[in-house]
Amino acid sequence: MWATGMSCCDQPGLQPVEQALETLLSSAKVITEIEMVSVEETLGRVLAEDQRSTVDVPPADNSAMDGFAFNSADLKSEGSTTLPLSQRIPAGVAPAPLLPGTAARIFTGAEVPAGADTVVMQENCEWTDDNVTVLVVSKTGDNIRPQGQDIQNGSVIMFRGHRIKPQDMGLLASVGIAKAPVYRKLKVAILSTGDELVEPGTELQPGHIYNSNRYTLAGQMKALGFDYIDLGIVADSFEATEEALRRAAKEADCIVTSGGVSVGEEDHVKACVEQLGSIDLWKLAIKPGKPLAFGNVLGTPFLGLPGNPAAVFVTCALVARPYLLKTQGANDILPTPIQVTANFDRPKPAKRQEYLRAKLVINKKGEACAELAGNQSSGILSTASVGNGFAIHPLAGTIQMGEPVAFLLFSDLLF
Ligand code: AMP
Ligand code: MG
Repeated sequence: MWATGMSCCDQPGLQPVEQALETLLSSAKVITEIEMVSVEETLGRVLAEDQRSTVDVPPADNSAMDGFAFNSADLKSEGSTTLPLSQRIPAGVAPAPLLPGTAARIFTGAEVPAGADTVVMQENCEWTDDNVTVLVVSKTGDNIRPQGQDIQNGSVIMFRGHRIKPQDMGLLASVGIAKAPVYRKLKVAILSTGDELVEPGTELQPGHIYNSNRYTLAGQMKALGFDYIDLGIVADSFEATEEALRRAAKEADCIVTSGGVSVGEEDHVKACVEQLGSIDLWKLAIKPGKPLAFGNVLGTPFLGLPGNPAAVFVTCALVARPYLLKTQGANDILPTPIQVTANFDRPKPAKRQEYLRAKLVINKKGEACAELAGNQSSGILSTASVGNGFAIHPLAGTIQMGEPVAFLLFSDLLF
């Protein structure tokens, strides 16, 4: 990828986010193992084969109303019509063909009998046990849900690479599929580097901070439906980093680390990865999150996220997520921003595209607006919690109150 004698890290400047994503995504290798799971267990899993229906949904014409079924030819073209009632068809019962010149009492979801082509709702009728008077003129086909209206026998209902949502589980079940083929869950190793880190639940000693990245990353892996191996806190030494990375490479499909990828002498991750494999990309034009590194450790893909807590959240959601989803076999991996109105002013960014933690609100004019969630420094995690998305500030210029701004909802990034 780099000219002879050059490494990625000698390249001048920072990689634009889109370009870095292209590099990452083109190198992602989709997992190959497939397993059959019951539809109940498919939430968040990625389909490994197209799913085709072997039935029509609905399987037969059925009534959309509680009312009466008849043949429209038996109805007068004006005024009301009285017809004898020849059968009663609740849902779940196979009807007999309709006797000519009669009507059937019918209920929502019940199959329309052969010979009937129209249903009138009961609110437009008067009836006894023996007869019904239809008080209105009906159009042929009224209130009938035709066979195959939703899904036709033989059609593909979901394609390989589809990530299954609750409504997809329902759709699979609606055509009678009880088990579906999905890719094995991706196994991601996560580890947090830093001698300053201690786990919550212990008392904080001078010089220490609580390890938050471990939990942000664990939550993101869970939300994306991956399995993860948590290698915990790794000390700031070459030896400890090497040991953890070797283990991660052996046990996982991908490695995601936090911290230790900057330029300080306490940052061992990058040097260690370069020794065990390679770094193919380093430093993005993204704020927060510049010192992101991508490469491999002994052949296992490696994503080195920065240490700052907000930078971890941003780079995991915007860079690691699409890469990992692609590896998991998913198709729809890049989120679509919505356009909203800026409720803030920002000066032109110096060198990096900014992902501002913001909140989507409706202003007095009824417009969807992005409001900054507060402090945007890379060490500030609380604004990621207050916000519900990122307002994207491209390099091109300033943002002024009232101008359009692209907005990515967290809910589109955390599943
Ligand atoms: P580093 O990239 O290792 O220099 O870390 C950058 C900043 O992020 C430092 O202020 C670290 O203390 C902080 N940091 C690194 N890892 C974590 C973590 N797991 N949880 C919270 N803060 C962290
Ligand atoms: Mg560190």
